Amino acid sequence: MGKGRKMLKWREVAILTVAALVIFIVGFANFGDRDVSAEAKNMGPPKKAVALEQASELKKQIKGSNLGRSIDEKASKQAHEKVVYLTFDDGPSPDVNKLMDTLNKYHAKATFFMLAPNIKKHPEAVKRMAKEGFGLGLHGVTHDPNKFYRSGKSALHEMEQDQKVLEDITGIKTHMVRTPYGSFPYLRESDRSLMESHGFKIWDWDIDSEDWELKSRQYVPKVINSLNSIEKAGRTPVILLHDHENSATLKYLPELLSYLKQHHYKMKSLDDSMKPVTFQCHNRCYAYSQKHKSNR
Ligand SMILES: [Zn+2]
Repeated sequence: MGKGRKMLKWREVAILTVAALVIFIVGFANFGDRDVSAEAKNMGPPKKAVALEQASELKKQIKGSNLGRSIDEKASKQAHEKVVYLTFDDGPSPDVNKLMDTLNKYHAKATFFMLAPNIKKHPEAVKRMAKEGFGLGLHGVTHDPNKFYRSGKSALHEMEQDQKVLEDITGIKTHMVRTPYGSFPYLRESDRSLMESHGFKIWDWDIDSEDWELKSRQYVPKVINSLNSIEKAGRTPVILLHDHENSATLKYLPELLSYLKQHHYKMKSLDDSMKPVTFQCHNRCYAYSQKHKSNR
């Protein structure tokens, strides 16, 4: 094997040397943009015959070599590259390290919207997230809509507490928040303004995997179907997923990640500088308690 590889390397070096020589002889420099055969055809004999033969052989060799291939692949990848943002709520769970391992296998980044008590339980995992470039977001403290949405101040206060817990562990002060169950319809317009005036950015999603309800492989085709319609609408996909212990989300995640990879999606993490994807209230928001009173 070793010898074979070495010979292959020498062969490639030889091909490249011949390539350089022919380019020099034929007398043009910009190989990639010009047709070698056409250049050679314009020459007079006998130089023409030699150059034609060499040029066509060279084209074949360069096309078949690793060099030619990697350039082709890179160009086609750039042309097809699309971005998707995976987000995981409610963690960190005891499985969060496995989750990061799986993401890493596919060179995928993601963002975690985390609860303060869980951050305290898994500080090392959260440090690892920060170190490896995953996105860090806040999800509050109680995850109880009756408490979180009781007032604008209660929602703000939970996010501030969560922010402090995360900062104490990682040294990073994030402003990305996702309110429990999403900002609509619970977060009233005034609560939203209060949170935003304190610098928080409220992130919702445009694809709900429904992993929390399906609890099976079914969330994968659900996401794939939604992706197609989001893409047609020209929007950037932000996918809601959950970091729960022993979850179907983690079990079937490789299936989703390999689909995304095969379809040239780049999986990135969110950051504080981005404009958030967020549900609009349009005066239809109301507090959780009001919702239950009116029984809607
Ligand atoms: Zn949640």
